[in-house]
Amino acid sequence: VSIHQFFLDRLLERLGDDYYDIVAAAEFPKHILRFRNNDLLQILELDPQAVSDEDFINAFGKFQTPPRPFLALRYHGYQFGSYNPALGDGRGFLYGQVRTADRELYDFGTKGSGTTPYSRGGDGRLTLKGGVREVLAAESLHRMGVRTSRCLSLIETGDQLWRGDEPSPTRASVMIRMQRSHIRFGTFERLHHYDRKDLIATLLDHAIEQYYPHLLSNPDRYSLFYAELVLRVAELAAQWMAAGFCHAVLNTDNMSITGESFDYGPFAFIPTFDPTFTAAYFDYYGRYSYANQPEICRWNLEMLQAPLGRVISKADLDAGLSQFGTHYQQTYQKRMLNKLGLPGDLTPASTELLKTTLRFLKESQISYPGFFSELTQDFSSVWRDDAAIILASVDLKDDAFNTVFSQWKVQYFNELLSVPEAEMAAIKARLQQNNPAIVPLRPEIEAVWEKITEEDDWSSFYDLCNRIRA
Ligand code: AMP
Ligand code: MG
Ligand code: MG
Repeated sequence: VSIHQFFLDRLLERLGDDYYDIVAAAEFPKHILRFRNNDLLQILELDPQAVSDEDFINAFGKFQTPPRPFLALRYHGYQFGSYNPALGDGRGFLYGQVRTADRELYDFGTKGSGTTPYSRGGDGRLTLKGGVREVLAAESLHRMGVRTSRCLSLIETGDQLWRGDEPSPTRASVMIRMQRSHIRFGTFERLHHYDRKDLIATLLDHAIEQYYPHLLSNPDRYSLFYAELVLRVAELAAQWMAAGFCHAVLNTDNMSITGESFDYGPFAFIPTFDPTFTAAYFDYYGRYSYANQPEICRWNLEMLQAPLGRVISKADLDAGLSQFGTHYQQTYQKRMLNKLGLPGDLTPASTELLKTTLRFLKESQISYPGFFSELTQDFSSVWRDDAAIILASVDLKDDAFNTVFSQWKVQYFNELLSVPEAEMAAIKARLQQNNPAIVPLRPEIEAVWEKITEEDDWSSFYDLCNRIRA
């Protein structure tokens, strides 16, 4: 089976040419396959054995597809709170769309595939380091059950890129990423900017048909679409917060209408529980700090009311948005309890345990991912016998946190006792499902990158990918 066959459909093309520009891919001096995602081939029902590295390079590096246009998608967006009409796919395009065996439609988008009418002075390229980081972000989030785009391939292109104030050039790459949809909040915002109520309705019909098909026959489908989007985005924000993920650039052009995470730039996983943690050096006021993410997601949804308000009543939009806070809180609390291995039922005791957990993590500043992976590795059914033996190996280094840690142990112990003994295995399984052995913090990523730049040694990158997925 040729991989090309899978990318023939582009439903967006059928909507008419108001939503995109036709572009061509850049030609690259070299094509070195650095990462291929065999998991995704399986979703496409392709046998990884039957798809060679050369197939990947021909399709996703040389773009030797049957001749047809690629679509640079048009969009605007609020960037750091200000409306910016000078956006759009400036270094990528929609390569194709696929309907998988489960009847879900997926987009395949490029990143780093050359300039487009929206490059505006940019080079249309992706640094190899940016590509490596995006692979790690997406695989980690996927491992933790966060809805996210994933990279299908990363090909080094042999180009040299000059970035920022770096004294020497850096290596370049081209990526293919797979996600449900590249339609962004900003796609609607652009149509509103040009006063195109007709195109907003067309795009909304398309979005509902493809991504919210259960609403199709409902006369209130537009309002219900927004209400469900609010829930999906609230869930996404809760998923990020529990995973300890800071996206870093939550502009409305980086918000998808399917409620999935995508477009990873200067993201970071938090090393410790610090609500003020900010990932992008250019985020001077901490607008997109770790703890601001839910509120920013809500604000982005509020901005989306302007375009959608062309076809949905203000009362319905407000009713939809009003569900954000509660839904976020419930999902976050459930997720955090799941990270502790617990079923996630909200009781006074479990709510208290969560409070103590966060207080302990914040005050002690011990490793956020480390705490949960240690809990997972150490977990033992004998923990039901004595609160004192829970996480006995954790060395707090500073006695000042012993009190809150002891308090946490007692509350956790009581939660364990409230679960039937026969369900201890389920707790263990839940811990493993929610807490990978490793989360790529910045030092881990830098170590991998150093090996790549200094020795062209990719083994630690592949090793990290494997440990993330384990
Ligand atoms: P981002 O911050 O990656 O979401 O991108 C914001 C905008 O800048 C989008 O319109 C991108 O397409 C564009 N952009 C980012 N990097 C480049 C680049 N190297 N060349 C051209 N356009 C870019
Ligand atoms: Mg973007
Ligand atoms: Mg980007």
